[in-house]
Amino acid sequence: MSTVLFLAHTECDGTLHKSALETLTAAKGLAEKLGHTLAVGIIGADVAAAADCVAGCGAKIFGVSGPGFADARYASDLAAAEAMARACGAQIIVAPATSRFSRALPGLAVRLEGRVDTHLCGLDVVGGQPVARRWFYRQRMEGTLTRSERPWVLTLDSGCAEPFSGAGKAEVEALSVDVSSVRTTVAGLECPSADQQTIRPDARVLLVAGAGWTKKQADGAIHVDVAEETILTFLNATKSSLGSSKSLVDISGEGNAVISYLTHMHQVGQTGASPRHAKGLSTCCHGEEPHVVGWRFIAERRAINTDAGCGWAQGKCDVLYVGDAFAIMKKVNELLG
Ligand SMILES: Cc1cc2nc3c(=O)[nH]c(=O)nc-3n(C[C@H](O)[C@H](O)[C@H](O)COP(=O)(O)OP(=O)(O)OC[C@H]3O[C@@H](n4cnc5c(N)ncnc54)[C@H](O)[C@@H]3O)c2cc1C
Repeated sequence: MSTVLFLAHTECDGTLHKSALETLTAAKGLAEKLGHTLAVGIIGADVAAAADCVAGCGAKIFGVSGPGFADARYASDLAAAEAMARACGAQIIVAPATSRFSRALPGLAVRLEGRVDTHLCGLDVVGGQPVARRWFYRQRMEGTLTRSERPWVLTLDSGCAEPFSGAGKAEVEALSVDVSSVRTTVAGLECPSADQQTIRPDARVLLVAGAGWTKKQADGAIHVDVAEETILTFLNATKSSLGSSKSLVDISGEGNAVISYLTHMHQVGQTGASPRHAKGLSTCCHGEEPHVVGWRFIAERRAINTDAGCGWAQGKCDVLYVGDAFAIMKKVNELLG
């Protein structure tokens, strides 16, 4: 019988990331619909805890563990994935599209003489064939594709399936993989602190900062320092995710006063991101169409703007507060304590 292999790597604390659990749901569903066997392969310094948390999926679990597999490293991740794919003779390999796997798994497809498709948003079976779904043109169109080549390596983006839950006591078949000849050594990882990291895809709320925060205000002066402090206080209190308009992130290139922690990664819109959050609050942003198209996955939209005729007022948000965002957000922060 053919096998669908779900691949995962552990996080620093030995657990599996939510996106890995979501991918397991998708892989399990695919295996069931195809009538294939499901196998699980986990890579990490110690895979026992991660294996326990997916034990309920009923699949045979392979593990490649040890200090050499603790951190993302192309050569060791590839060697571990290859060993597990060969051990179960996987026809289809499904993994979360983490940065670690996005780097290593295209190499796996080459090594196994298979094919790879990345950043997928769903897996299905049509007419007995596995089908992958993928967004194109910045999530405006969804395409479906299938392939006859095997093994077929598929990486799935986060937020596309319900996370698997079913912990238990797992039996792991440990595979030994020799990486002593790998020349790359991991010197260390530098992670931004939770408060420095302001892009939080899992947050309930998105706060968008627009260029108005850096414009002259009613007193004829600019108050970028106050803007920085106000936005950061809100983010730290609510653990919301931060987004920006293009104008605001572009201002740094024009030599103007800037919000120091904003980068182009924060840009929401046609030429930026389309994040997914339950609620969004736009501040000092006009709400022009190229920006607002990036809000298509924000369920409830609110905006604060001094201009009652701004773009948001043209049916683009649920609630528009016509007022000064400096004053309103100051009050909100006070209420948040
Ligand atoms: C091809 C193309 C692609 C683009 N892609 C993107 C994209 O991906 N993302 C994007 O964002 N833009 C994009 N743009 C640019 C977009 O059209 C707008 O120019 C941009 O979004 C404007 O940013 P803004 O609203 O922050 O700034 P502004 O237009 O300068 O608006 C500032 C707003 O702040 C308000 N304001 C000022 N002070 C206060 C205050 N104290 N309280 C409350 N409100 C205040 C003002 O009333 C004003 O509405 C694109 C444009 C083009 C042509």
